[in-house]
Amino acid sequence: MRRRFAVLVCAKLLLISHQALAWNANGHQIVGAIADEMLTGNAKQQVATILNVNLRTAGPWLDCVKSVHRFADGTFHYVVEPAFEEPCKPFASAHPVMQQYVKRNFFQCSYLSKRKDDDGKEYQEEMGCHNTHHFDDVAIQRDHFDRNFQGTNDHDIVAAITAAMAVLLERPSPPPFKIADKREALFVLAHLVGDLHQPLHVGAVYLDKDGKLVDPDVTHTIDPATETVGGNAIRDTGKNFHGDWDAPPTGFKVEDALDLLPLAKAVPLDNAALEEWSTAWATDTLKVAPQAFAGANFVKNPDDWAIMFADHAAYVQKGDEIKRQQMAKAGARLAHILNRIWP
Ligand SMILES: [Zn+2]
Repeated sequence: MRRRFAVLVCAKLLLISHQALAWNANGHQIVGAIADEMLTGNAKQQVATILNVNLRTAGPWLDCVKSVHRFADGTFHYVVEPAFEEPCKPFASAHPVMQQYVKRNFFQCSYLSKRKDDDGKEYQEEMGCHNTHHFDDVAIQRDHFDRNFQGTNDHDIVAAITAAMAVLLERPSPPPFKIADKREALFVLAHLVGDLHQPLHVGAVYLDKDGKLVDPDVTHTIDPATETVGGNAIRDTGKNFHGDWDAPPTGFKVEDALDLLPLAKAVPLDNAALEEWSTAWATDTLKVAPQAFAGANFVKNPDDWAIMFADHAAYVQKGDEIKRQQMAKAGARLAHILNRIWP
């Protein structure tokens, strides 16, 4: 779930940035490992045949493609960035596929990121539309997901999940997504069902200069000065608040993933049509998102906001419990989708 965390690759490249470690690769592997365990016979077989790796390994793929950069001459190349490479090593022989994926999904929208050049001068970098597939920024004042709300769009995570499902059902890739085949669709799905359950990948706070909540759906427009970029513009004890929420619960390792299996098995199966699931789950996450900000106070810094809690230890403990629940839901629901597609 790394997102919007700029790591300069080379000032000479037309770059793209890398975003934070987000569920970081570990989180995506945990979600995938739970789903692997919950797949039924046919789905398990299909996943193995199409992917050639399990869902645990596949989970980080969509973040790995962020290592594909658009160069000044317009070509796309995978640039190894050591800090992010470990979970991407299983795909080392497939860089051309990743380059094609990024190129196909780059120009449908613009996704700019603030960067600094070698002289410290700020500039805007085009990161490519595929970077927007990972999230929405719906105000936490909303109690359900609706495409009419600010912070949503037709190339967001909700739409991307539905698009990947379509390809797995052998339907055309719905625009603006250009998903070439079932293999790409599985990589996309294995990642984004995880992201959809990270509260800060769906819910967002908009803040004024006094640190008070702003509601962009009252004015029906977003004032850029109020955007917290999914919590990336918020610091908790100096650390990126979005990154804190991307991390697994305190001390929880990928190897512990199946500790969450009882929770995952308790997640009810949705009886609605498959096409409605990503919207319903975004609503579910929006109901959780306010808890990530419960009791918070915000103070404006020159470039971002600081978030403060009366009892930080209690907040972290509560957050860990929410993460366990959300990762279990994500793993279960990823399996639910694939078991429905391949009964
Ligand atoms: Zn992501």
